Amino acid sequence: MTFEDFNFNEHLAEGLNSMGYTTPTPIQAMAIPVVMQGKDLIACAQTGTGKTASYLLPVLNKIGEGDKRHINTLILAPTRELAQQIDQQVEGLAYFTGISSVAVFGGGDGIVYEQQRRAIQNNVDIVIATPGRLIAHLTSGVLKFDNLQHLVLDEADRMLDMGFMDDIIRIIRYLPAERQTLLFSATMPPRIRQLANSILRNPESINI
Ligand code: AMP
Repeated sequence: MTFEDFNFNEHLAEGLNSMGYTTPTPIQAMAIPVVMQGKDLIACAQTGTGKTASYLLPVLNKIGEGDKRHINTLILAPTRELAQQIDQQVEGLAYFTGISSVAVFGGGDGIVYEQQRRAIQNNVDIVIATPGRLIAHLTSGVLKFDNLQHLVLDEADRMLDMGFMDDIIRIIRYLPAERQTLLFSATMPPRIRQLANSILRNPESINI
C-alpha cells in the first residue's frame, strides 16, 4: 500500500512527498479509510506509530475540498509539547494547501495569550489546544465553533490523568452535536471507554 491509494488532493500529496512519507504505517493504513468515510473512531495507539498523521491526513484532505477560513477542526492534547508537535506536522503536511493552524497552550505571559487570541481571530482552519487554556479563550468569546466538523482527542488517557475530564466535557458543550469525533489513547482503561461512550457515535475501533 502507498499513500497514492487514498487519492488525496494534489496539494496534500505534495506535502506528503516533501515530508518524505511514502508508505502508510499500520495505524495510518487502518485509520485513514475510516476517517475518510466520516465515521467516528476510537484508536488505541502509542506515540511513534504515526498516529498523528493518521488523523491529520484525512482531515486535511477534507478541509482541502471545502470552504476554508473558519475553525473546521479542534484537536485537544494534554501538553504544550504535544500541541506544538501536532502543529508542526500540520505545517509540514499542509504546506501547499493554504490550510492554517494555531497551537493554543497555557503558560507564557499576557503577550503569548494575546498572540494566540489574534491567531484564532485570524480565521484559522485548525486549532490545536490544551484543554485548560482553550477554556480561557472560550469564555472570552473569541472562538466560534459553528462550522466545526472534526474533534480529535489525542492522548486521551494522559488528558484524563492530568485532570482534564471536566474541561473536556465543558469544551464539548460549545461544539456542534453534528461532528466527527476521533479519540486516540495509548491505553484503554474503563474511564476512557466511558468518555468514548458519551462523546462518540457508533465508532469504529482500531487497536495497534
Ligand atoms: P507520531 O506517532 O504521530 O508521533 O509520529 C512519529 C514520527 O513518525 C513523526 O516524526 C512523524 O513525522 C513520522 N511519521 C509519521 N507517519 C510516517 C510515515 N508514513 N512515514 C514516515 N514517517 C512517518
